[in-house]
Amino acid sequence: MGDIITLLPDHVANQIAAGEVVQRPASVVKELLENAIDAGSDHVQLIIKEAGKQLIQVVDNGKGMSITDARMAFERHATSKIKSASDLFALNTKGFRGEALASIAAVAHVEMLSKTSEDEIGTQIKIAGSEIQEQEPVVAPQGTSISVKNLFFNIPARRNFLKSNTVELRHIIDEFHRVALAHPQIAFTFFQGGHELFDLPVANLRKRIVHIFGSKMDAKLVPVEESTSVSSVSGFVIKPSAAKRTRGQQFFFVNDRFIKSPFMHHAIMNAYDGLLSEGTVPGYFIFFNLDPQTIDINIHPTKTEVKFEDEQSLYAILRSCVKHSLGMFNVAPTLDFDRDPNLDTPYNQVNQIAASPHLEVDSNFNPFKNPDTPRFSKPNETNWESLYVEVESQPIPTVLGDELNVLGDYDSVKLFQLMNRYLVSSIGSALLVIDQQRAHERILYEQFLKTITQKQTASQQLLFPYDLELTSTQQVLLSDLEEVLIEAGFVFEKVGSSSISIKGIPASSSEKEIPNIFENLFASLESDLPSDSFSQSDLLSKSLSKTLSIKRGVPMKSEEQQRLLDDLFACKETQVSPFNRQIFITLTQEELDKKFV
Ligand code: ADP
Ligand code: MG
Repeated sequence: MGDIITLLPDHVANQIAAGEVVQRPASVVKELLENAIDAGSDHVQLIIKEAGKQLIQVVDNGKGMSITDARMAFERHATSKIKSASDLFALNTKGFRGEALASIAAVAHVEMLSKTSEDEIGTQIKIAGSEIQEQEPVVAPQGTSISVKNLFFNIPARRNFLKSNTVELRHIIDEFHRVALAHPQIAFTFFQGGHELFDLPVANLRKRIVHIFGSKMDAKLVPVEESTSVSSVSGFVIKPSAAKRTRGQQFFFVNDRFIKSPFMHHAIMNAYDGLLSEGTVPGYFIFFNLDPQTIDINIHPTKTEVKFEDEQSLYAILRSCVKHSLGMFNVAPTLDFDRDPNLDTPYNQVNQIAASPHLEVDSNFNPFKNPDTPRFSKPNETNWESLYVEVESQPIPTVLGDELNVLGDYDSVKLFQLMNRYLVSSIGSALLVIDQQRAHERILYEQFLKTITQKQTASQQLLFPYDLELTSTQQVLLSDLEEVLIEAGFVFEKVGSSSISIKGIPASSSEKEIPNIFENLFASLESDLPSDSFSQSDLLSKSLSKTLSIKRGVPMKSEEQQRLLDDLFACKETQVSPFNRQIFITLTQEELDKKFV
């Protein structure tokens, strides 16, 4: 057999390497933003179309590239950032592998425009699938603009593998957050499909966080600061009372580079010990400043892990300074002399004239007609709220229907609540113990799913609209769910660019639940984004059922217990909650007898 090994042509090698660097539009966004920062820019624009599938463009005012460098930049292992292996231990740039542009150009149509301050004229270069198609001198402002079009045009399998626009956009927003938080001294703007998602002016860290996450964040931030001879830790943690059920606002940065660190997360959790309600996770924005010699940035192009030389003492420092800050915060409110009163208003409404509130009056409401009727809700057979209305004595129905042979049709009610969390009854000779919260979740889930899918929308008008300010991410998430929200009974309209005014809610919910409804909805959207409309109604019904269900620990009147039982056994599925948890257990006589041997 003759020789069979050959070197892969460059464009093939580049395409293979691209698989590592470019997984989705968000990876391109990350690389381009980082290059713009490494180039010393103080204003960076991100423009995308179709969640980056059609266009990703980054425009900066950094140092630009000479004609030769513009060409070289697209070669693999071509970098201006390190010259030898020893430079790896003194990194102060984001990039250093010289792979990003070569990889991107292997899988997309790329157009670059660049000019340095020394050159009179700039250069334009067009590349598609690693092939240079054109390079010519052009008039251009100082800095660089790179457009990446039709990502994965030559790898259909990859292109088809991309998720819905909402999912891809969310990944892009995540990357944008990470870069923008690490560089408050750089102004960023971000346009998606002609719509401005972010306009972040140069600011300090606190203001940058607030500009990104909304004005309510300001009051939740607790500063953290500690420096030792080898390292400094600074940033903010979020007050324990504002901790959320989902991950999402957890940010670690090492020398201004976003990293993930379960180990350091543990240090923070430890510092919050005893301050968090069950199941919640605190948010944080923590910056480590370390001698680059003492860390090892993972060599893998996309991984965000870092090895610390002395992670034990870093853990201890972080834990103690977070603990200290939380303690300080508990005894005295933090004074922030640098506070900008403009931050109290959503930034894009700062200069707008306040409109007088619009009052809507329900002309059908007659307070004397029926004093028992709750104002906001029409009594309705399937309406949980109506339980509190229809408490007049009713004949007690058979507990579980005939086929279940329930010992219920006697004078005494064979149904009671135990420990404020279980309903106890009997089936045949077996004991039945029902988890009240899970049972109610199941009932509400099926009701909402039915309302949405059969479009039996039942909405109650609010006397006063409820205004809700949304972050840009939340706006994006919400716009995808708009249709099913309306079908579920929500009535709302956009006010300004960052708020919605809620005018109606599902008949089976109540006004005081609105903040919870939306907080839980965003939490589940952030952790699990559905792509088709069936799973959208599923997700919304699940989220509403969780929020509105009767919780463990809540005492229930006997009528309510009875209604819950009836409604549960009228459900299509009675065994498990919408979250796949067992709703009830039975104990047979045999099982009981065994306990008494
Ligand atoms: P790396 O960032 O790892 O060096 P890249 O492939 O991302 O590799 O970029 C290659 C080179 O192109 C960089 O080292 C830099 O010299 C140049 N470059 C890329 N983007 C820019 C930009 N926006 N402004 C100036 N130079 C840039
Ligand atoms: Mg780079």
